[in-house]
Amino acid sequence: MPSGKVHDTVNTVLTFATVPVAYNHGFEVSDIVLFVLGSLFATYYLSPDLDLEGTRPVKRWGHLSFIWKPYSSVVPHRGVSHYPIVGILTRLGYLFLVFTVFWFAFVGFLHYAGLSPPRLDPYVILKPGVWGPFMAGALFADTLHIAMDALWSTLKRAGKKKRRRR
Ligand SMILES: [Zn+2]
Repeated sequence: MPSGKVHDTVNTVLTFATVPVAYNHGFEVSDIVLFVLGSLFATYYLSPDLDLEGTRPVKRWGHLSFIWKPYSSVVPHRGVSHYPIVGILTRLGYLFLVFTVFWFAFVGFLHYAGLSPPRLDPYVILKPGVWGPFMAGALFADTLHIAMDALWSTLKRAGKKKRRRR
């Protein structure tokens, strides 16, 4: 598979390449911004390669990178995490689960300390107008990664065959 650096570069370049195209097709600037944010987030923090320990996307989580350890130990590399559409949903679902656990731990701590928890308004991010373009961007980045992995494998296989024939 291509290195993490290649994935990051190709995804970033192609994400920004969509901006003038989308703008010329009459998309709202706010939608384009959300699309770009979704694509960059999926490239740098939610890449399919979170299924492998020590990869660039895992390291980017810094002190929080341990949250991906259970995920990478359960999911085989280039397994379900590299399935189109399904893969990113498993990672988003997993992330949601982890943050729910953190949230309840935080609320429990506040309770213990005699403080009242802040009110969260999940409807702000659950608005279709917000998550629609953001998810479209995330799917764009995810599909690009999977397509590049597949292309890389095909080229490698073709290269090997050629060498064998010589
Ligand atoms: Zn990959």
